[in-house]
Amino acid sequence: MAKGNIGVTSDNIFPVIKKFLYSDHEIFLRELVSNAVDASQKLKTLASVGEFKGELGELKVHVTIDKKKGTLTISDNGIGMTGEEIDKYINQIAFSGAEEFLEKYKNDAQAIIGHFGLGFYSSFMVSKKVEIFTQSHKDGAVAQHWSCKGDPEYTLEDTIKSERGTDIVLHIDDENKDFLEESKIQELLTKYCKFLPIEIAFGKKKEWKDGKNVETDEDNIINNPNPAWTRKPADLTDEDYAAFYRELHPMSEDPLFHIHLNVDYPFNLTGILYFPKIKNNIDMQRNKIQLYSNQVFVTDHVENIVPEYLTLLHGVIDSPDIPLNVSRSYLQSDGNVKKISSHITKKVADRLAEIFKDDRTNFEAKWDNLKIFIQYGMLSDEKFYERAEKFALLKNVDGKYFTFEEYKSLVGENQKDKNGDLIYLYANSTDDHYSYIQAAKDKGYDVLIMDGQLDVHVVSQLEQKFEKTRFVRVDSDVIDKIIQKDDVEKVAFTDEQRDALVVVFDSQLPKVERANFIVTFEQLSATANPVFVTQNEFTRRMKEMSALQGGMMSFYGEMPDSFNLVVNTAHPVVEKLLKEEEAACTTEVAPIASELLEVKVKHDTLKDSSKGKKDEEIPTAEKDELSALAKQMDELGEKKKVVYKAFAADNKQVRQLIDLALLANNMLKGEALANFVKRSVELM
Ligand code: ADP
Repeated sequence: MAKGNIGVTSDNIFPVIKKFLYSDHEIFLRELVSNAVDASQKLKTLASVGEFKGELGELKVHVTIDKKKGTLTISDNGIGMTGEEIDKYINQIAFSGAEEFLEKYKNDAQAIIGHFGLGFYSSFMVSKKVEIFTQSHKDGAVAQHWSCKGDPEYTLEDTIKSERGTDIVLHIDDENKDFLEESKIQELLTKYCKFLPIEIAFGKKKEWKDGKNVETDEDNIINNPNPAWTRKPADLTDEDYAAFYRELHPMSEDPLFHIHLNVDYPFNLTGILYFPKIKNNIDMQRNKIQLYSNQVFVTDHVENIVPEYLTLLHGVIDSPDIPLNVSRSYLQSDGNVKKISSHITKKVADRLAEIFKDDRTNFEAKWDNLKIFIQYGMLSDEKFYERAEKFALLKNVDGKYFTFEEYKSLVGENQKDKNGDLIYLYANSTDDHYSYIQAAKDKGYDVLIMDGQLDVHVVSQLEQKFEKTRFVRVDSDVIDKIIQKDDVEKVAFTDEQRDALVVVFDSQLPKVERANFIVTFEQLSATANPVFVTQNEFTRRMKEMSALQGGMMSFYGEMPDSFNLVVNTAHPVVEKLLKEEEAACTTEVAPIASELLEVKVKHDTLKDSSKGKKDEEIPTAEKDELSALAKQMDELGEKKKVVYKAFAADNKQVRQLIDLALLANNMLKGEALANFVKRSVELM
């Protein structure tokens, strides 16, 4: 029997392994199973080049638990090791300057493992003793037994082992007993080894028989050794891709599209990415791309490998150029990783462009689900925008889809206003904005539907990208004001009449939480609604942005919503109301009005006389008189208002008109709604 010290030239490697790798203890299993798989594949290679002439047999890795002995064993029938090889590969841990490095990185477990491929030694994270029983494939080789208790001392001796290959026996230490649980090992094997290229058996398949779960003779194979991404696209059907998706994401709905990645220059990369159906919460769906290195699972945190918006995709990326033990800092600085990222971006854009070109109907059918990826990409990556602007779509309220260019030629002339600005009309919902959409359509305009999570941002982006183009929501003003064709303002009603109606309506507006109303007038058609609500585009959008972003924008979020209560002066009901108001108020208002006029004349004359004078040149008496007259005017104005308010309070129609406008805008709630219903019945 040989005894020796492990050639790591340091006494402290085991404490380091045990202590600092705590959080990632479980990776030992991945390391050992990968070694076993490698050993099997190496033998296959040797056989294929004629260097191994024996019987290959069925290459398989077995993982077994022996609870009584407290051991976990990983066995393979691969190449095995000779005594010399154990010495070389296990005893002389294959790195130089270990001591220095360990000192420097003793706090960074990933770096240690990653740099040195301490694969086999990670077994000491969970074991008090590790044994190797191995029989090399080489003719005449004597089986070897190696044993080590987690200190630099090991023993190596000849032994008897009938089968070719290697058993790694871990005597699990007391703190890590959970690695002797079947469910735990099953979970880890599924996580890390699901797609390793050699079959991995863990116990036997179970069957439900006579009311019991009984073991069958069949091995419980935990992996799929030939996952779809390792096969040629030409050999795969759509169903194969769909089946592989279900294997990866059993709980998800069928994906929209897939992209098969296959690169061998300037780096190696294979994989399949899927566009999933996204429901609502963007974040919930992240971390669904799994990163593999030669079919060994590495991580599902790929945020540094693919651009952020593509972390929404599902699927697999496999690149042997990415080391098994990736650390964040590594990913950020690695040149290959950057190339991989831009390559994937390009592939995704190319694939989308291809589907758009070859099968537009299909592309349109999936657009509503697809748009979140494309918009997210366009918003966050200029390069992607440039590619996507050719296939990104706009959808109108009738469900028709247009490319940016197509839409521009559709509305380009018709929806230009008097300043030559092109106005894109949009609605957030065909139901909520129904009457506004109708009004726009009556004018021969087209209305887009913008109901996506990112549409607020998209609207801003497109306004910056498109020349002389504005997006305006249909309810932000009367349609003739949104797309203003000429300068002549149609005036109806005198100032006096308007002033009266402002008070009439304003005094009857119900209190709506966090909302301000301004009464305005428009001379529309007699068939348009008599009174309706519009909301200023700018403030509304600022508020929407602030709701999404917070921070700097929260100032806007705090502001109340500001609405216009637009009175249609051409509507017979409004004309009738004006007549009633005049009939009811004139007698009372006329003397106040003539007094007001008198005072106003006095006030204005006095003001005129002091025109051009400096403040100190005006006598104090004159100043006093001026302010007394102004005060009198205010008082008379108030007096007039009292009359109008009294009229409005008695007139059920005013409230009814306001409520109808609020109702059409989905703003009539609670008590106000109940009052409206009651009043409507009374008016019948
Ligand atoms: P790495 O696998 O990164 O080289 P390890 O420490 O895991 O580092 O393994 C060191 C070497 O030991 C391997 O390269 C291989 O030559 C040998 N080895 C480990 N496990 C086995 C095994 N099951 N069968 C044959 N050789 C093995």
